[in-house]
Amino acid sequence: MKSLQALLAAIVIQSPTMSSLSVPILQLDASQAILELPTLKAPAGLPVPNSTHSFWINTPGANPLAKEGSEGDLTLDADVCIIGAGITGVSAAYHLAKQLGARDDDDAPTVKAVILEARDFCSGATGRNGGHLTPVVFSHFSDRAKTYGTEEAKKIYALEHYTADELLKIIEAQGLQTIVDLVASDHIGLLVTEKEVQDAKVDFDAAESAGVNVNDVTWLSKAEVKQTYGASYPAWKHAGHNLWPLKLVTQLYHLTQKLSPRKFQLHLHTNTPVTSISPSTSVTTSTNSRRWSLATPRGAVQCSYVLHATNAYASHLLPHMHGPTGIIPTRGQVMALRAAAPTAEITTASWGANQGFEYWFPRPAVHGGESENPLIILGGGREASGPDFETYVTDDSVVREEVGKGLREFLPGLFPGKYEKGREPEMEWASIRCFPRLVGPVLISNGNETIADDFKGQYISAGYTGHGMPRAFACAEAVVGMITAEMAGETWNPPNWLPRHFLTTERV
Ligand SMILES: Cc1cc2nc3c(=O)[nH]c(=O)nc-3n(C[C@H](O)[C@H](O)[C@H](O)COP(=O)(O)OP(=O)(O)OC[C@H]3O[C@@H](n4cnc5c(N)ncnc54)[C@H](O)[C@@H]3O)c2cc1C
Repeated sequence: MKSLQALLAAIVIQSPTMSSLSVPILQLDASQAILELPTLKAPAGLPVPNSTHSFWINTPGANPLAKEGSEGDLTLDADVCIIGAGITGVSAAYHLAKQLGARDDDDAPTVKAVILEARDFCSGATGRNGGHLTPVVFSHFSDRAKTYGTEEAKKIYALEHYTADELLKIIEAQGLQTIVDLVASDHIGLLVTEKEVQDAKVDFDAAESAGVNVNDVTWLSKAEVKQTYGASYPAWKHAGHNLWPLKLVTQLYHLTQKLSPRKFQLHLHTNTPVTSISPSTSVTTSTNSRRWSLATPRGAVQCSYVLHATNAYASHLLPHMHGPTGIIPTRGQVMALRAAAPTAEITTASWGANQGFEYWFPRPAVHGGESENPLIILGGGREASGPDFETYVTDDSVVREEVGKGLREFLPGLFPGKYEKGREPEMEWASIRCFPRLVGPVLISNGNETIADDFKGQYISAGYTGHGMPRAFACAEAVVGMITAEMAGETWNPPNWLPRHFLTTERV
């Protein structure tokens, strides 16, 4: 870890030196440095009840499962309790159904799982994010190789490709492309400073030398970008996808119900926050007793295994995982903004810029016309919020004015004539992500050694450093693999694509 002095020295807000950018530039080191500082902030609270409205959730008809299981009888006993109904929680249910199905035989006991969600279905980060499902191809490779070693760094890229490929296979096999608004297009990384140009080259060369497949990457000169897209910066591009994340998770839930083996039962209770977890005193059969009792305002749920799929809010139930050695929540902001030029000019490309702080893509034209001015989903701007970068903020009921201002002016500055200065977004919302990434059993250390027994049967999959779409589904597969192995009394073997430094067992 860097010295505190070095960390503080890195926290310097720099102003844009290039007139077209409405947000501070080169803030990656400073924002990373904040993540390493000790915190005096309290652990996360429960998700607030009055979150800002997001395009993905609050478009009429978009969330048919919103209130599923929020009334009537609560499932009071289950083998596995999954806390959180975002992409992690629902992917975990999917993998449980698949993995138990693969083990299904007449002697196998029926496994009952329940998903408990504090608010409406998928109303956390997954229902409020930027909508990109694009694995990283080479960016950040050099730093990651220095920090984790080359082989571990390569696994980060392998994990993201594996996750995206698996989700795309499901979408294709089930014919869900239109339902989830899947768009396959170019993903462009706009290099708005000389440092980013240099860093991109270093990362590309390092990734290529390490054997990462970078064949899909094309470099675009400033003139080429200007001619095709209208921005005056050089860039790289490779293939990428975007979609409607909530619709993907909804379909994944339906698919889980459909493919559930005969000895798997899944229940979903939305608007049922878990307020605390304590050892269970209940005995379900003469030979079996549950380990944990999950308190909710509707009653307690007894279970043997708990999966914390609560992402930024994990420290509410696991306060010892709050801060630099655990989970660090961070608020982000997104808006839906109408372009001032038609799809034919905007193109269908998705974008990232300014070291990845800003990201955007045009929604498919509603009436299918190239002449329609598309709605752009644009996120980022937290570097405009001040020196704390919205770190440890878990309230998604408000948006920050400074962030909103930076975002409103961002695209008109980059693409003159294609976006109207002063145009108000059609929607603007907040969303909470978290850093870094944690997958595995919940552990606690007494300073000298790791104590696993205090949380026996509790697991977590969370974090993903704000890049969960190409990570969460596979991380859920891994953690469910640990649970089903423990159920069967077997040893879990990590898959090749899982970076070992993601594991909780590697971190305590
Ligand atoms: C502004 C923003 C933009 C982003 N854009 C992208 C992007 O374009 N591409 C990408 O790959 N990633 C993006 N991400 C990151 C991505 O959205 C997340 O990594 C991913 O959605 C995490 O999924 P999850 O299921 O783990 O968490 P969440 O979707 O947050 O789900 C956690 C759920 O747990 C529930 N919960 C919490 N505590 C409790 C409790 N005690 N009891 C019951 N329920 C509880 C919450 O209500 C929530 O529904 C973005 C994140 C943000 C914030």
